[in-house]
Amino acid sequence: MRHEQANARPFGGRRAEVWVTLAALLLFSLLLAVAQHGQLERRFREDLAIQGRIVADNASAAILFDAAKDAAEILSALNSAPAIEEAVLRNGAGRPLAQFKSDRGKAHWLHQWAGREELRLPVQAQREVVGELKLVASRAPIWSDLLRFVGSASGLLAAALLLASVVTRRLRATVSAAEERTLHLAHHDPLTDLPNRESFRLALDEAAAHCRSRPAALLFIDLDNFKQINDSHGHLAGDRVLRRVATVLRAQCRPQDVAARLAGDEFALLLSAPLDEARATQVAAALVEELPRPTGAELPIHVSIGVALMPLHADNASDVMRWADAAMYEAKRRGKDGFQLFSEAIGASLRERLALERDLRVALEHRGLHLAYQPQFDVEGRCCGLEALARWRHAERGLVAPADFISVAESSGLIVELSLSLLEVLAADLRQLETMGLVPPVVAVNLSSRQCRQPLHREQLLEALERLDLGPHRVEFELTEGTLFEDVEAPDSMVVQLQRRGYALAIDDFGTGYSSLAYLLRLRSQKLKIDRLFIHGMSSNSESRLLVASIIGVAHALGLRVVAEGVECSADWAELERLRCDLFQGFGLARPLEVGALAGLLGEQALGQRTRVSA
Ligand code: C2E
Ligand code: MG
Ligand code: MG
Repeated sequence: MRHEQANARPFGGRRAEVWVTLAALLLFSLLLAVAQHGQLERRFREDLAIQGRIVADNASAAILFDAAKDAAEILSALNSAPAIEEAVLRNGAGRPLAQFKSDRGKAHWLHQWAGREELRLPVQAQREVVGELKLVASRAPIWSDLLRFVGSASGLLAAALLLASVVTRRLRATVSAAEERTLHLAHHDPLTDLPNRESFRLALDEAAAHCRSRPAALLFIDLDNFKQINDSHGHLAGDRVLRRVATVLRAQCRPQDVAARLAGDEFALLLSAPLDEARATQVAAALVEELPRPTGAELPIHVSIGVALMPLHADNASDVMRWADAAMYEAKRRGKDGFQLFSEAIGASLRERLALERDLRVALEHRGLHLAYQPQFDVEGRCCGLEALARWRHAERGLVAPADFISVAESSGLIVELSLSLLEVLAADLRQLETMGLVPPVVAVNLSSRQCRQPLHREQLLEALERLDLGPHRVEFELTEGTLFEDVEAPDSMVVQLQRRGYALAIDDFGTGYSSLAYLLRLRSQKLKIDRLFIHGMSSNSESRLLVASIIGVAHALGLRVVAEGVECSADWAELERLRCDLFQGFGLARPLEVGALAGLLGEQALGQRTRVSA
């Protein structure tokens, strides 16, 4: 990928480094040589003076007695001094008494080049000068010693340089491998080794920039019910599934295509030219087909895929991402396990959702939401619980159904604010009822898993409950089965924190979602609410009856109380009573009531009147 090029070092930079190092070495060697030359020169002169002094001291007697033979013999000792080329002993009158000459090495170029040093020494006898010794020495030894020194110093330096360069090269290789690894990690997902969201975004930007000449397609892939796999089979099984998805995606990629893991269970595939709608949908169909068929003992996994094309549907990365995402949600809405090509209708519904989100934001700012309370009754017909249900009346839209605005609040993150503001409404309504002398039963508040993902949001909820005095004697929580709560056993999970404070929990809409018996056990809730899908008309439907009977049996065995939702007729209620259902909620008993109407019902109850199913 492009960003990997950033790792390459400019070659010119390294060459310059080598030249600078060599120049520094050269300068250093030169300085060393100059210093060494000075030293050699000094030592040469000292040696010559010592040798001269020894000869002069020995020669004093020979000069005194004018013994030329003895003098010549003394001078011949200079044979062992290789630098001395000539020596002459003169007597006091300046007449040469003896002479020594050596031709050793004279022909050598160094002798010619190095020049000579002349030394004259007085010869003394009893402190009187009796003659003179003249020495002529070749300066060649200074230079040959210097050359030898420079040679060995350069050899040592070269060896050190070589060693240093080997070590540096190794070090550099290690550092650059580490750099490459870090860079790779920064742009890839460690679990699947696919490019991550940031990296994919770069590729998408690039594809969008050239999409007019080179069409491209974005496949937005979301695993169906992945949380259930994690929950029922553990995180290791979940990881294996994610890795397999990555392998299957890679297999669909041609060299010009890019597969990426965007987040948890979200993947994306960018198909580049040559490409048309047929190829994009063919790849999407192949993925939908192939992923549920694992080899060996792996878990089957279903996916929902949204497909958007560039430039047909969008010509920039943000829009194509949004459209593919919207198409994916449409695929989910249509029953999951399939793919959906983006269409104008999907775009329009997305725009409508965005408009709804905008209006909801305004409504929340103006505290425009309120609560309706649907009573729950026991077998005696006593109202022993209420469910708080959000209500939003919009000036132009009229009464907006929670099914519409709750999902928008969840996907936009507004659910946190919405829930906190409804807790304020609840606290105010309860105060109003209490000032009327009424004793409201415990109120069930619907809790969305989306509002509990961030620690800050969990803290905000707990803080609001405390501040508004909504303790466990006044409030319990319903967890919708469709949005399963993850990590129900983690110590800081919402579920655990609420239970630690004594709040009772109910599993909502049981039978329509994904909860397993294992989840039921782990959640340790107090109530289970059977979805109205199974309740409505059960008295005349033997299959529903059987299902409801089994659910009640399991729930009771686990020590849970059972609430039947959507009780609309007396026949269903009677059947539920026969099956030993504990609590009943439905339009047949009472519709969700505004707080004024609720006060009326609680007032009647206080007078001992019992509710009867009207239909
Ligand atoms: P739910 O929690 O299952 O609430 C029960 C829903 O069933 C309510 O719909 C209620 O009006 C409806 N219902 C009760 N009895 C009957 C019946 O006999 N027949 C029929 N056809 N329907 C009946 P509503 O108020 O439209 O709420 C829909 C869903 O929106 C709720 O389902 C809940 O999941 C969600 N919701 C509502 N208020 C809140 C809230 O404050 N926070 C959160 N997170 N979700 C909420
Ligand atoms: Mg509910
Ligand atoms: Mg429900």
